[in-house]
Amino acid sequence: MYFNELNLHPSLLRGITERGYTEMTAVQEQTLSQTLLGKDAAVQSQTGTGKTAAFLVTIFERMLGRATPQRKRALIIVPTRELAVQIEGEARLLSRHLDFTVGCFFGGVGYPGQLALLKKGVDLAVGTPGRLLDLSERGHLRLKEVGWLVIDEADRLFDMGFLPDIKRLLAGMAPPSARQSMLFSATLNRVSRRIAAEYLNHPAFIELTPEQLTVDTITQRLYHVKSHIKANLLLGILHQQKPRNALIFTNMRHSAARLAKKLELNGFRARHLSGDLPQSQRLRIIDDFMAGKFSFLVATDVAARGLHIDDLEMVINYDLPQDIENYVHRIGRTARAGNSGQAISFACERFGKHLDDIESFIAMKIPVETAAASLFATDNGLEHELKMRAHRRPQNSGSPQRNSGRNQRPGMRWERKPLTSPA
Ligand code: ADP
Ligand code: MG
Repeated sequence: MYFNELNLHPSLLRGITERGYTEMTAVQEQTLSQTLLGKDAAVQSQTGTGKTAAFLVTIFERMLGRATPQRKRALIIVPTRELAVQIEGEARLLSRHLDFTVGCFFGGVGYPGQLALLKKGVDLAVGTPGRLLDLSERGHLRLKEVGWLVIDEADRLFDMGFLPDIKRLLAGMAPPSARQSMLFSATLNRVSRRIAAEYLNHPAFIELTPEQLTVDTITQRLYHVKSHIKANLLLGILHQQKPRNALIFTNMRHSAARLAKKLELNGFRARHLSGDLPQSQRLRIIDDFMAGKFSFLVATDVAARGLHIDDLEMVINYDLPQDIENYVHRIGRTARAGNSGQAISFACERFGKHLDDIESFIAMKIPVETAAASLFATDNGLEHELKMRAHRRPQNSGSPQRNSGRNQRPGMRWERKPLTSPA
């Protein structure tokens, strides 16, 4: 179904069209069929399916029907600053032919700008829970005036521990029947459902569990490769294809760290994500990654869980997942609506065992490619790694050290060791 079949205000439709949207996504179609009538909705749909426009179009269209003086405001609660900025941008684009004020409110920046904006009057405010609460407690943000409420990325908000803040925000608002509320999430877990039941007004529950397990727009490939040359193949692929970014999965934390180091030693800007880092630090790594500060992120499933990493050009299963469902979760992080992405998997003697299960789970055979010898690149990190391992081994170092002292840590040995791996 097309946006122009919705009988939207012409100026809103113009914004939508100029944004490049003509046909609605499934979640937009299902959500708008309820929310344009003024109904509340709790919506589950995968990342990248177009939830943002679903609520923004609802808000703008419904706002347009209201006379200016007593018009209520819209409030969109999101987990992160980046998402707030992103939604603000989308709102500005969609409403470019409308006369609404859009504002963004998050912590970590000074108040004056945000206060001036609120004084002028903001029709649609997007913000993170802490700052919104702050602004409301100081009397600058009037929650009673909220006529449209969106809780976006609810699963992530709750994962990040924002539930108490959200409850306080909700407590400051008029009762659910006095506004239109929408909750959006990639998963509708128990908490989301409870919040929806408690704070939404007889919401429609809309759930779009993925129709197909893998997305058509993802190009999948598989290489059968021995463990000890996986790194060479990875390096060769990165050299040859030069992806803008890639998320690389390993099955173990220590291999994630080691592989990220190896990529660095081979001239690729890489970091690893480990589950033992505090959430705030993991989010910072993700933000830096998404901002392009480095191009390759090596992660385990555990470390990547609950974090929204998407809009990727490439996902690489350096180790095939042992939990078969994770194959779908991993590769689904590439290929946002309208874009195509690539998923490359390595099946080695150790982790290739689950390939059959994965293929029966996704109900398709992953196309196999044979890597030409030229695709295997030299690993410049190998020597370094062997040196480090040799260094870590207790030595009976009778020989005098030939350290020149240049940029070397005390005791670091640089003699050439025999290049045998200590296994
Ligand atoms: P979600 O919130 O579900 O993760 P987004 O709202 O961020 O998804 O949208 C994902 C991408 O799809 C964005 O790049 C957005 O511009 C694009 N998009 C959204 N709706 C449409 C549409 N109807 N047609 C084409 N692209 C769309
Ligand atoms: Mg979203």
